[in-house]
Amino acid sequence: MSLANGRLHMALPGPSVMPDAVLQAMMRPAPDIYSDELRVLTEGLVRDLKYVAQTQHQVAIYIANGHGVWEASLSNVVQPGDKVLAPVMGVFGFGWAAMAQKLGVEVELIDHGRQTPIDPEQVRAALLADKGQKIKAVLAVHTDTSTSLRSDIKALRQVLDEVGHPALLMADCVASLGCDEMHMDKWGVDVLISASQKGLMVPPGLGFVWFNDRAMAARQALARVSGYWDWQPRVEPEIFYQYFGGTAPTHHLYALEVALGMIKAEGIEAVWARHKALAQAIWAGVEHWDSPLALNVADPAQRSHAVTTVKIGAPEGDRLRHWCSSNAGVTLGIGLGMGTEADPTGAGVFRFGHMGHLNATMVLGMLGSVEAGLDALGIAHNPGGVAAAARIISAVSSV
Ligand SMILES: *Cc1c(COP(=O)(O)O)cnc(C)c1O
Repeated sequence: MSLANGRLHMALPGPSVMPDAVLQAMMRPAPDIYSDELRVLTEGLVRDLKYVAQTQHQVAIYIANGHGVWEASLSNVVQPGDKVLAPVMGVFGFGWAAMAQKLGVEVELIDHGRQTPIDPEQVRAALLADKGQKIKAVLAVHTDTSTSLRSDIKALRQVLDEVGHPALLMADCVASLGCDEMHMDKWGVDVLISASQKGLMVPPGLGFVWFNDRAMAARQALARVSGYWDWQPRVEPEIFYQYFGGTAPTHHLYALEVALGMIKAEGIEAVWARHKALAQAIWAGVEHWDSPLALNVADPAQRSHAVTTVKIGAPEGDRLRHWCSSNAGVTLGIGLGMGTEADPTGAGVFRFGHMGHLNATMVLGMLGSVEAGLDALGIAHNPGGVAAAARIISAVSSV
């Protein structure tokens, strides 16, 4: 028999679980887009988006997904013939680099593979080798959602400063924002991008680009900027519709207002701490199950707090995912970009998404379902992973 009926849990690394209050905020008639209500709402969103990224600078909102803001961010700071440096540690780093190439930008790529985060020393070497300082920007993914590696963005700023290289530091925080610690200004990030459907708990459809004065200066120096992606009218609108380059994404804005309100009420530091503790519980469970299960990232300091990539061997990853969705009502992420010669589709890998609206019960339920699936499918494991996770949750509890 199947025990999947009940509330479904999407444990995907995006789109993530949407709070009921976010869904309910969208259940209303269309507003008058010429009214003052939307302008006031948008001004509040801009303020709260800056809080989430910990910046005093600017944020532009786009009707777009993460791919859209990859292009939006690049379109404001580089032009054909320019060069960027892309240190890559997974599928999403390659994606941003490919987007730059399609814009006619030359990309110097450093491939760190799938198990090590961006190495600041390799970035230093590439910057030192750039004698004419042709590199305009460093494209760094904070959490790569395919490998679940997390890079040290602050260390990259330090390297740029020590080398005295003027390249902009650009960070893809689509998977990490609202999950992993991020201080845009304190860590010296010039351009930061994110999207609505991961840590921000809103349906896919909104993309965000935060940028500082150095990035704005790069924008002003370009000969031509794409009409739609230009961030200037979006942060200095003379009339309301310029915020969005056309009709406002009305219901997404209502949803975002509620989601950002939840983050503010909890406090961004508490949100980060919750994600960290829940991630540690998941790691403890997987490590306890042991071989053939293994975390993709060995060093806890290099692991994302929003997504965890688990290796189990083909075809068990796919079998386990199917078992969990059809028997327990929890949907796990596929082994995205983790294929090998022996396992071309990545069937031996699955991912836990643990971003956004998630508590201890949801994590224990997800782990318990996986442990039941391991048992049901006869996949070797050391029973008691859920108890190991429960000990982490008990250890951080306040009473
Ligand atoms: C999800 C994701 C993207 C792409 O976002 P889409 O909305 O699917 O276009 C880019 N970068 C990272 C790190 C992501 O996790």
